[in-house]
Amino acid sequence: MKFNTKNYDYLIVGAGPYGSIFAHEAAKHGKRSLIIEKRSHIGGNMYTHKEHGINVHDFGAHIFHTDNKEVWDYVNQFTEFNGYINQVVANYKGELYNLPFNMNTFYQMWGVKTPEEAAAKIADQKAAAGISGIPKNLEEQAISLIGTDIYSKLIKGYTEKQWGRKASELPSFIIRRLPVRYTFDNNYFNHRYQGVPVDGYTVIFDKMLNSELIDVQTNIDFFANKEEYLTEFPKVIYTGMIDAFFDYQFGELEYRSVRFESETFESDNKQGNAVINYTDAETPYTRVMEWRHFDKKADKGKTIITKEYPQNWDRTKEAYYPVNDKRNSDLFKKYRKLADKQEKVLFGGRLGNYQYYDMDQVFNAALKAVAKEFS
Ligand code: UDP
Repeated sequence: MKFNTKNYDYLIVGAGPYGSIFAHEAAKHGKRSLIIEKRSHIGGNMYTHKEHGINVHDFGAHIFHTDNKEVWDYVNQFTEFNGYINQVVANYKGELYNLPFNMNTFYQMWGVKTPEEAAAKIADQKAAAGISGIPKNLEEQAISLIGTDIYSKLIKGYTEKQWGRKASELPSFIIRRLPVRYTFDNNYFNHRYQGVPVDGYTVIFDKMLNSELIDVQTNIDFFANKEEYLTEFPKVIYTGMIDAFFDYQFGELEYRSVRFESETFESDNKQGNAVINYTDAETPYTRVMEWRHFDKKADKGKTIITKEYPQNWDRTKEAYYPVNDKRNSDLFKKYRKLADKQEKVLFGGRLGNYQYYDMDQVFNAALKAVAKEFS
């Protein structure tokens, strides 16, 4: 059976942001792409659908945020954003706290009212915990940034259920994703540009891929015909799991997976916020999203709530988060070396690069790759 039926210039494996941006830009250069996607839809984990007039994010809350003006301008070609600013509330055994860690959190936790009082409290707790020097893991990093009370109520339980391992065995960079600030500011991100597309994310991909030079085939498994694809196409952009590409020859990279459970209610407002994190160790889910609150223009009458449950990954489940600890980072380097030798194949995206990428970082990486390809 022939696969490169139309003299395609590129085979793109995966219709997520990396592959879709590549195809879109290649088309601008007159190049023809075939995208194959193993799922039944485009957009990867950014995929959203509309239900009861509400945009539901099928693969968990996606808030676009960036400091990169080029990326922001780029994505704005395909959609308007709604100005949503993420402000997460944490529920620890019935106590409510604002996130990320800021003066509101410090006031709620300790009653402190000034930045000086908050800083003193944190310094005392850090000293009492005996933390000094460069933090060696997430636990030390967290205590050194915000002290032991916040660590034990808002971080430890959430982190250990999210990742399925001890906070003392996780890399410190994961907690540095969250801002710590000594102002009364509940914005979950520090980035200049932020929002959610007014009509959901899927339209971005509909527009990107709407070209005579791009064909998309869904429900297609690259591995069913890997050798033929590699032989027939002049170049392959591969955005799947890098270890799978090499038949797991050095062993499996670890991922963390999640699963979602949704419910619809006859209500306009069930939980009063877009995202509530459950930060104790016992609640089996990490967070609950109420989709209508991501979009003030959502239709009234019904509301949809989704609970996010972390779970172990195996080959039958979706890989969401790479576990960038030392063992996996070392293993990834071995696969990376093999990838570098594949002249025909470019590895991209969160799974192809085994990186905890935010959406804007994937956009940026894809735009860089395209610039190099067509320079
Ligand atoms: N985190 C936490 N408590 C929270 C929220 C986040 O301890 O209430 C930690 C947790 O380790 C998590 C990390 O901060 O994995 C990064 O959080 P973020 O919200 O960026 O995770 P994502 O949205 O990518 O799942």
